Amino acid sequence: MFSLFFPHRCLACRQPMEGKETLCSGCYSRISFIPPDFSFKEEKGLQCGRSVSFLEGILLDLVHRWKYKGEERLGTFFVSLLERTTVDFSDRERVDLILPIPLSPRRLRLRGFNQSFVLARGLAGLLQAPVDPLLLWRRDGIKTQVGLSREERRTNLQEAFFVPPKKRSKLRNKRILLVDDVLTTGSTLSEAAHLLKREGAASVSFITLARRRAILG
Ligand SMILES: [Zn+2]
Repeated sequence: MFSLFFPHRCLACRQPMEGKETLCSGCYSRISFIPPDFSFKEEKGLQCGRSVSFLEGILLDLVHRWKYKGEERLGTFFVSLLERTTVDFSDRERVDLILPIPLSPRRLRLRGFNQSFVLARGLAGLLQAPVDPLLLWRRDGIKTQVGLSREERRTNLQEAFFVPPKKRSKLRNKRILLVDDVLTTGSTLSEAAHLLKREGAASVSFITLARRRAILG
């Protein structure tokens, strides 16, 4: 009876739907999935990586609602998208430890949750690897990356991440998978990877929900 008055609706277009999916088939088909053979490789400390979709259209809107409008249920949907991509990824890349890209304490307080942790936690079962949200930390007081040159971004980020001394032994010779929601320039992931390798990680790969189509310098 309840569902007669409140039918299940597509989260994007609000159309009533029969099933319990998050998106109707029309909206789902408008996600710009990145083909499996398209992987972002970088010499800067990252072994290999994968992003599920380009950050545009429907996905851009949904990510915004998730991060800034408190629509937490979208997290489950995003994890299901990540799993699609990760099944393929995990065939080749063994993972010992999953680390979400952290928010600084101030950003975490403002947002109320770390979106990357939600994604990382969602992948733990599939990859059969633990998630440690307290291994990699990000400091407050780091300037925004927007509008900075490549060199400035790098200097800015070098000081951003740290690993508490008592956590260092947990990294030793581990194959790390970094998880983030959005890959913009790659510099955040790259700096985190450099640090983790300096601290003893064997390799660092990454997976992100979305990436910008144009990777800037
Ligand atoms: Zn729809």
